[in-house]
Amino acid sequence: MASPLQGFCHPLKGSGYLSQGIRSGTHRGRTEFAYDLAIAIGSPVYAMNRGRVIAREDRYPDDGGGRSKISKFNYIWIEHADGHRSAYLHLQQGFGRKVALREGSWVKAGQLIGYSGNSGFSTAPHLHIEVQEPGSLGKFTKTVPFSIAENCSGGQISRSAG
Ligand SMILES: [Zn+2]
Repeated sequence: MASPLQGFCHPLKGSGYLSQGIRSGTHRGRTEFAYDLAIAIGSPVYAMNRGRVIAREDRYPDDGGGRSKISKFNYIWIEHADGHRSAYLHLQQGFGRKVALREGSWVKAGQLIGYSGNSGFSTAPHLHIEVQEPGSLGKFTKTVPFSIAENCSGGQISRSAG
């Protein structure tokens, strides 16, 4: 396996707790390297690295549910300088009215990008985060391992050797 991508900021600035890690529960296949962070609805969510917003969805209620809701989640999706993308899922309905971001908007590492919620396939309020390999727009690509830096002020993605 490749070394984890380095240098990502914590998307909740240290809040929340890990409720589902990589390669466990529903994190299989495409999402094997995703994390779930349990956090109250309405908590601020921050960009894990600088980049450009490539898509966002803000139409579904925060009523959670099972697998039948798997495609009914709010999210924001950011592409980074090296082509990797980060995605932030289950956001609170209406987050898009509170943060002035559109497709094409540029964001800094650590910038407020939305609010956590409970939309989609979600059995309790949480934020699902993942970093995806480069790919075409419009389709979530496979997740890659990444690590969250203690100090992410530079907002750089770098791949460690080896
Ligand atoms: Zn998840």
